[in-house]
Amino acid sequence: MTNWVKATVVENICWHERLFSLRVKAPLDCFIAGQFTKLALEVGGERFTRAYSFVNSPDNSIHEFYYVTVEGGALSPQLALLSAGDSIDVAVQASGFFTLDEVPDGKELWLLSTGTAIGPYLSMLETPDLLQRFESIVLVHCVRHQQDLSYQAAIKSLENDYGNKLTYLPIVTRDAPQGMLSQRVPLAISNGELARRVQVALNPASSQVMICGNPAMVRDAKGALIELGFIKNLRRAPGNITVENYW
Ligand SMILES: Cc1cc2nc3c(=O)[nH]c(=O)nc-3n(C[C@H](O)[C@H](O)[C@H](O)COP(=O)(O)OP(=O)(O)OC[C@H]3O[C@@H](n4cnc5c(N)ncnc54)[C@H](O)[C@@H]3O)c2cc1C
Repeated sequence: MTNWVKATVVENICWHERLFSLRVKAPLDCFIAGQFTKLALEVGGERFTRAYSFVNSPDNSIHEFYYVTVEGGALSPQLALLSAGDSIDVAVQASGFFTLDEVPDGKELWLLSTGTAIGPYLSMLETPDLLQRFESIVLVHCVRHQQDLSYQAAIKSLENDYGNKLTYLPIVTRDAPQGMLSQRVPLAISNGELARRVQVALNPASSQVMICGNPAMVRDAKGALIELGFIKNLRRAPGNITVENYW
């Protein structure tokens, strides 16, 4: 059974009219970077509960959730109406196995995301200990429009902290500025463009790949990697593709 607490909204950052980061204060249990919890609101007498990944690092007492408002969605448009001082129910215990301690060692760590699914990687990148296991980390963020590339200041700061070890690769599929990659992730895996752009190996012998977000991208990227010889990472049979679907 889920235990709920009332969280107080500290800030609801609006990146643009559909993209937000909700920051709340709540006495939650410890979590591991990459996990999610549940947010719930009562709307018109009905209670809606949905999963959202933590963006903050586990040692930050303000919890942050990066979300898009889904047109006609039951909960996400309601989240956008919240402002500082409002309250929202949050599940006390985090869930999920999309965490670095579930990923075997490797030389290169590829973090592939679409849209708001960059969130769990930002949390992981704020917990550098586990990342000592990898020589190179590539953070790939695929969005439709350039304005969807949020968290640029945070990413810059991570790049400074990690030095040459971290490469950020934004992909914009609809209105890419000149020079920016605009191919979808599965195609860029298959034709070698992803690895070529950042000059980091994407190789089943040495690379670990995490994939998070849009289920069609997760499925197709996984398929493209399997063609290259990667295998799904399971607890009972370690491999090199670890995935999380957002819907
Ligand atoms: C493990 C997990 C973690 C998640 N973490 C996040 C997160 O950090 N941020 C976040 O925005 N969402 C996240 N989601 C999705 C989130 O739980 C909700 O499904 C989403 O906010 C839509 O809820 P809703 O009630 O507004 O829409 P609903 O009325 O439930 O409609 C659901 C439909 O919305 C679409 N949809 C769902 N999520 C998205 C999305 N992110 N982008 C585009 N379309 C979507 C799909 O077509 C889905 O069928 C996560 C889901 C899972 C399973």
